[in-house]
Amino acid sequence: MAMVSTPSTTDPIDWIETISRADPDRTWLETAEGRVISYHMLNNSVIAMAAQLTGAGIKPGDRVAACVEKSPEAVILYFACLWIGAIYMPLNTGYTQSEIAYFLEDAEPAIFVGDGIARQTHTLDDIAALPDAPIVERAKFAPDAIAAMLYTSGTTGRPKGAMLTRANLASNAVALMNAWAITAQDVLIHALPIFHVHGLFIAINSMTAAGATMLFRAKFDPEDVIVQMPRATMLMGVPTFYTRLLGTPAFTHAAAAPMRLFISGSAPLLAETHRQFEAHTGQAILERYGMTETGINTSNPYFGARIAGTVGLPLPGVEVRISDAEGDIGTIEVRGPNVFAGYWRNPEKTAAEFREGGWFITGDLGKIDDQGYVHIIGRGKDLIITGGYNVYPKEIEDAIDALPGVIESAVIGVPHDDFGEAVVAVVVGTCLDPATMLSQLRTSLAAYKLPKAIHIARELPRNTMGKVQKIVLRERYNL
Ligand code: AMP
Repeated sequence: MAMVSTPSTTDPIDWIETISRADPDRTWLETAEGRVISYHMLNNSVIAMAAQLTGAGIKPGDRVAACVEKSPEAVILYFACLWIGAIYMPLNTGYTQSEIAYFLEDAEPAIFVGDGIARQTHTLDDIAALPDAPIVERAKFAPDAIAAMLYTSGTTGRPKGAMLTRANLASNAVALMNAWAITAQDVLIHALPIFHVHGLFIAINSMTAAGATMLFRAKFDPEDVIVQMPRATMLMGVPTFYTRLLGTPAFTHAAAAPMRLFISGSAPLLAETHRQFEAHTGQAILERYGMTETGINTSNPYFGARIAGTVGLPLPGVEVRISDAEGDIGTIEVRGPNVFAGYWRNPEKTAAEFREGGWFITGDLGKIDDQGYVHIIGRGKDLIITGGYNVYPKEIEDAIDALPGVIESAVIGVPHDDFGEAVVAVVVGTCLDPATMLSQLRTSLAAYKLPKAIHIARELPRNTMGKVQKIVLRERYNL
């Protein structure tokens, strides 16, 4: 078996070429239907699709919009864009026609690949049927050439296109490969969507850089994931994956035993889930922190303490600092080869989100503890200012989550005549009584932090990446 040498930190396409040459039959991806694609087949398919895109007139710098179901071809399309220097632009398959219309108007893609959602759509089959243009030799593109553009809502306003360079993608994937000790022997259960940075870049790039294997699943189904575990080594998920696994009887200590690493991100993992998981399986979930604009910034260590409720240490090469701190909590800023090149056609917004010296203002609030571990306290926009006092929802949520019967909670600020904003809690659990909870909270929280209302809910609204949708709660629980 050939060993794969250190993968490129400047260009993801180099990985595929190198591994395809060194170990052509190694499995890159296997679908739920049992289709097996080797690295050699991947390389050939990417070149073929690159030729077809070129034949369709797509040039370096053109945007290629893709709103397609999860499939190997969708990933091959992404690599084909990299091959020809086009900008891959994945779109959430849940978007409505009017949302799609906005993205198409804003990005002006040269081609829209979709499942029949908009006019002038090409399906992946259409692309495969296009005539080839001969590609003799691959052009080399600069590490800072834009490779992909992902729309992100950020804090306010309409979604903005975050432009990621070839080196952003390559350097972050190699950093993760090293941090999580990913090798060609690893087999990842890939059950995330691929229109988002987590399933697309964090998962696919780090595994492909290492020459590892992915088991592609259309969606997360805990029973199915458990069935895959005996032949897998890793799972990357959002926190709901782990709460759902813990709620599935087939998920036993023995079921988890063949796996070497469970990773969580995209939304906060409850410290309680971390502890339950460790008690149940003997394995500590590794939590990490990233975002569309930066890829991964921090990660709990693979070798070393994975501390519940923290997102770990900055990745090598990535710097993290806290600015505008009140006490030890402030805005998290990051700098490094992972930080994006700016927002598409929006220099004002780009300038507003960077400080001198290349520090990107994440919009997250957090602190760094004595051991250097980063703690996320919430989004800046979720900070509640009530009667002139700052209230961090996370602090209140932690206090509520510690009460008997509580499974989870979300704390929001809603408009209030006297206080400007009032603290409101939405709680999920069993046998809960708001009046009792309030009196219990009085022992741990100052009066101004106490919720003005506690609502009991069956569940919290979440988006596909497992993030609690506080906007929905603010609308629903207006005082
Ligand atoms: P997105 O750009 O959709 O990936 O969202 C990025 C945001 O998700 C970050 O700015 C954080 O607010 C949040 N996030 C990501 N990972 C974590 C984590 N491990 N804990 C808490 N929040 C997280």
